[in-house]
Amino acid sequence: MPVQESVIIDGSFGEGGGQIVRSSLALSLVTRRPVVINNIRAGRPKPGLRHQHLAAIKAAAEVCGGVVQGAAVGSRSICFDPGTTIGRHYDFDVGTAGSTTLVLQSVLPALVLAEDPSTLVLRGGTHNPWAPPFDFLAKTYLPLLNRMGPDVSATLEEYGFYPAGGGRFRVSVRPAAKLSGFDLLERGRPRFEQVRAIVSRLPRQIAEREIRTVRAELAWPQSAGVVEEVAGHGPGNVVMIEYATQASSEIFAGFGRLRVRAEDVAREAVRQLREYMAADVPVGPFLADQLLLLLGISAWQKGNRERQCGGSFRTLPLTRHATTHVEILRQFLNIDVEVTESAATGTCTVQVRPGVQL
Ligand code: AMP
Repeated sequence: MPVQESVIIDGSFGEGGGQIVRSSLALSLVTRRPVVINNIRAGRPKPGLRHQHLAAIKAAAEVCGGVVQGAAVGSRSICFDPGTTIGRHYDFDVGTAGSTTLVLQSVLPALVLAEDPSTLVLRGGTHNPWAPPFDFLAKTYLPLLNRMGPDVSATLEEYGFYPAGGGRFRVSVRPAAKLSGFDLLERGRPRFEQVRAIVSRLPRQIAEREIRTVRAELAWPQSAGVVEEVAGHGPGNVVMIEYATQASSEIFAGFGRLRVRAEDVAREAVRQLREYMAADVPVGPFLADQLLLLLGISAWQKGNRERQCGGSFRTLPLTRHATTHVEILRQFLNIDVEVTESAATGTCTVQVRPGVQL
């Protein structure tokens, strides 16, 4: 076999965070191209790899029997040489309260394209700030991934909050040979709205105050609010607003933390929902970021008459995360990503298509 040239990624580029590492791993697995990532998280207060990035690197190496150099806490550079991704059972333990959904992001695109089905158990944090909460994975991300051909389901078994962790969820993956693209341009009519506030080993009234705040801010009826008391490994609190339309189901979260009032945590989630509703787009900022990877892979795989490859969506102005993501995609995949901003509506349309044949 010819030796493949490595893709060289500058980890300090753009947003310069952990997502550059995770998306590069995901794309290396899918394309089977080795990758070298330098200057990892160079601009962050604690630069280099943290524990949770290592968990993603180890998971990526395990699913494909890949070879990694430089995988250590604090390391600012890694080389990753992937093998073929194998579908089977995997058990990934982040080992701390680090986010399990972020670990899954690195390996799922390759597992949905593997030859055999997989089952996974992921252990660690399930509802972490700065990461997709489990509910976003299950209700927002997976239904759209499943529209592309695979059949992936996820079941939460235990909540894991920072700092105790100890959460757990299971995933089952029936792969597809290729990912079909789609267009998500209109939001359509609302289908469902609900706010859930969850407390683990904390007073129930925290969740009740969050629900009261969200309902008052949005003038939602009592029936739209749900309080859940769970017994996780440690204390934790999250409030999640679900807003489903004909196009998609979005989840906006506020994470409880010390010295922040429950009312303010709830208002953080309300603010995100309001921005999304005002823009009248089907895709929120986090989903936009994550759809780019899936549509990019779909466009790269090319289509035939039965399968659309790539696609488009309308969203809010792209975050720095998302624009960085576009650059990473361009470095791995021969695709064309076009972002058209509309100043009049404060929205943008993203089109992801196969690149011109070289
Ligand atoms: P990074 O900050 O580089 O570690 O990447 C964070 C990842 O988590 C990105 O893919 C974000 O889209 C995603 N993310 C962060 N917060 C949320 C949230 N509240 N809901 C959904 N996804 C999120």
